[in-house]
Amino acid sequence: MELDSLYQEVILDHYKKPHHKGLPAGEIQVHHVNPNCGDEITLSLEIKDGVFVDLTWDGVGCSISQASASIMGDLVSGKTVAQAAEVLREFTELMQSKGNILGNEEVLEDAIALAGVSKFPARVKCALLGWMAFKDAAIQNGAEI
Ligand code: ZN
Repeated sequence: MELDSLYQEVILDHYKKPHHKGLPAGEIQVHHVNPNCGDEITLSLEIKDGVFVDLTWDGVGCSISQASASIMGDLVSGKTVAQAAEVLREFTELMQSKGNILGNEEVLEDAIALAGVSKFPARVKCALLGWMAFKDAAIQNGAEI
């Protein structure tokens, strides 16, 4: 898999120093796995006054899955349900584009670094794993996302 080197650096940065990683014991809300690659993400979050707060996750797996979860944590923490829903929609659309769209950098920020993954169908599930865990946890917390 060949990705732009600048983008590769962003991904490796998040992989080596993941943001929002580390779950308080007993607070795991969702656990998602990508058996094709062996990636696992557990995630916990809270919604206060319509805003996502206290999002934390833990996981193991490939650099794409772990970096994507780290980036997701940055992008949805502190956002309202509507704002996070927009980011989720844009990212999902980008991942399903098979490389045909570039993505909206204003909305996706560091997640733009994962755009190249959409050309590799086998890796799209890696990139989406943390986001699907987030969506699941959001719904379990009563968000319409
Ligand atoms: Zn993976």
